[in-house]
Amino acid sequence: MIIAIDGPAGAGKSTVAKILAKRLGFLYIDTGAMYRALTLKVLENNVPINDEPGIIQLAQGVKIGLRNNTDGSLTVMLDGKDVSLAIRQGKVTQFVSDVAKIKEVRQVLVKMQREFGQKGDCVLDGRDIGTVVFPQAAKKFFIDASIGVRVQRRFKELKGLGQKVTEDEVAFDLANRDKIDSTRLTSPLRLAPDAIYIDTTDFSIEQIVEKMFNLCNIEPSVNG
Ligand code: C5P
Repeated sequence: MIIAIDGPAGAGKSTVAKILAKRLGFLYIDTGAMYRALTLKVLENNVPINDEPGIIQLAQGVKIGLRNNTDGSLTVMLDGKDVSLAIRQGKVTQFVSDVAKIKEVRQVLVKMQREFGQKGDCVLDGRDIGTVVFPQAAKKFFIDASIGVRVQRRFKELKGLGQKVTEDEVAFDLANRDKIDSTRLTSPLRLAPDAIYIDTTDFSIEQIVEKMFNLCNIEPSVNG
């Protein structure tokens, strides 16, 4: 069974997706981490961000692995190397939407996401999960929040990772990515007609997870 969670950056998708997956005993697949891992590879190989053929070539040979750890964290592997932290750095965040807008890049990563999703019950979060990757998902959520709250949440998260950023920089990044992600030609961020829209602005993580869990209507696993 597939649960699809889409929405803009900083709305709290990955936080709720991770907790919901653990509670249901499902695998958690962070598709944003996959686009980030490829972007890291592009930067590490000094491929210019406007060199589409160069980026596509890297995408076609990339190996990305995701591992759900028992403590609830997620390990992201790029070509056999743990890049869980490296993919959160500012430079990756700055360029990830430019890499993710390339059609051939999406073809490669969507194929991988479908293969991951076939391994069992999964919660996937991203921008196009309910619209393109798994249009037949059993449940679809669109998680949103006001821009002010999204900036605050992302700012706190980056501070927690020890990054030196200002609120203005975070606001610029979110606006920039929102624009690219929702206006690109291939699989733009859209609300699927059958998705449940949740505005998380005035709610805590616990309240949102509780609401989503109840809407899923599934018996939790014995470990959940
Ligand atoms: O989820 P996160 O903010 O880490 O995603 C980083 C970027 O990856 C997004 O801004 C978007 O450009 C891209 N992305 C995407 N499709 C997905 C998941 C992420 O285009 N399914």
